[in-house]
Amino acid sequence: MLKFDLPYALAIDSNKKILYKNARIIDPESGYDKIGNLLTLGDKIADFGENISAPDAEIIDCKGHVLAPGLIDIQVHFRDPGQTHKEDLSTGSKSAVAGGITTVVCQPNTAPTLDSVLTFDYLRMKAKEVAHCNIKAYACITKGMKGEELADMNALKNAGAVGFTDDGLPVMNANVMRRAFEYSKNLDVVIAQHAEDLNLTNKGCINEGKVSLELGVRGIPNISESVIVERDIAILEAIGGRYHLLHVSTKEALDAVKRAKDKGLNVTVEVSPHHFTLNDTQVLKSGTNAKMNPPLRSEQDRIALIEGLKSGVIDAIATDHAPHDISSKDKPLEEATFGIVGVETMLPLSLALYHQKILTLPDLLAKMTCNAAKIINFDGGVIKKGARADLVLIDLNSEWVIESQKFHSKSKNSPFDGFKVKGRAIRTVVAGKTVFEIS
Ligand SMILES: [Zn+2]
Repeated sequence: MLKFDLPYALAIDSNKKILYKNARIIDPESGYDKIGNLLTLGDKIADFGENISAPDAEIIDCKGHVLAPGLIDIQVHFRDPGQTHKEDLSTGSKSAVAGGITTVVCQPNTAPTLDSVLTFDYLRMKAKEVAHCNIKAYACITKGMKGEELADMNALKNAGAVGFTDDGLPVMNANVMRRAFEYSKNLDVVIAQHAEDLNLTNKGCINEGKVSLELGVRGIPNISESVIVERDIAILEAIGGRYHLLHVSTKEALDAVKRAKDKGLNVTVEVSPHHFTLNDTQVLKSGTNAKMNPPLRSEQDRIALIEGLKSGVIDAIATDHAPHDISSKDKPLEEATFGIVGVETMLPLSLALYHQKILTLPDLLAKMTCNAAKIINFDGGVIKKGARADLVLIDLNSEWVIESQKFHSKSKNSPFDGFKVKGRAIRTVVAGKTVFEIS
């Protein structure tokens, strides 16, 4: 049976004590990994360790499962405001907590776009009423995401923006990007880029390669991503500031990030589970449900992404959760919208890297907790005394089959329908309160 709750509509009593007993507690930041107990007081972690007890606490038996910081997904599209027939803050966050995620970062390509304090205020107030998890958001780099005039970055940061991006679209104008770096440097926030040269993309719909040739559709070449990344890094090097590459998909872009990191530039990068799990041949099986931007790439690129996760060049895993209704996808490949849902499948797909011994569990979890938190200047993603009690309990070995029709998202567009996976979130805790539980 599944149970859901809201953390903020009726917040937890600040004196409430809960003892999570017999857990394998993992804090990816410190490397702590031991069987023990963890005590929460209200919405904070009070203590944890091998011999922690609290006679007056409610007891939750974790049965040896992994208790980790709640997952942080720094790239979701919850379509609110504007396209709430596809998703809204309630359904998106319900889907997120069912996937073990306690904090999401919404992208600003809503309608209206998140380029004003007013829209930010709407988001914050609605999240408090209906959201199952913490809702954070990037603001737009440019007004209306038109790529021309900078948004009021100072006011938007004060309103709660965790960084700036025009995601969904690239910032094509290098001078606008230069000025965005200048502002962001002073504000100490990240500029996140959807790296795509629209001229090189040339209305392509899937990866340019054997599959696009076979299907006779226009392809998106790898250089469409990497030339923007190379350009942005050159601007960053000249101006300073912080750069985050959203959803990397190609070996070339990743190599550029590695070179920038080797030079000591302030660059971070995330990858989406679909890009390290699938290659472009999936389009032959899943059709438009395997169409997203950036597209699924070649097997060579996929292997490069796995290497990047292993070597640590890739800092974070984020879903790019992009829900669409059936009518947006039930079209020829060239006309269907880009994007797939992802928050309910991030953890099991990522755990494959642990089961295949590509990454250790703390290293893998770091990419969905503390590393992700640092990119957005967020104080979550850690287990320590006094930290926020955002937690996930993970059953590592539960084997199950992904059924997209059972997603809690309003949308079901996923190429992973029918995939056999291992491991899942069985309890998700936000601000000290269980907001999702499988019993
Ligand atoms: Zn994007």
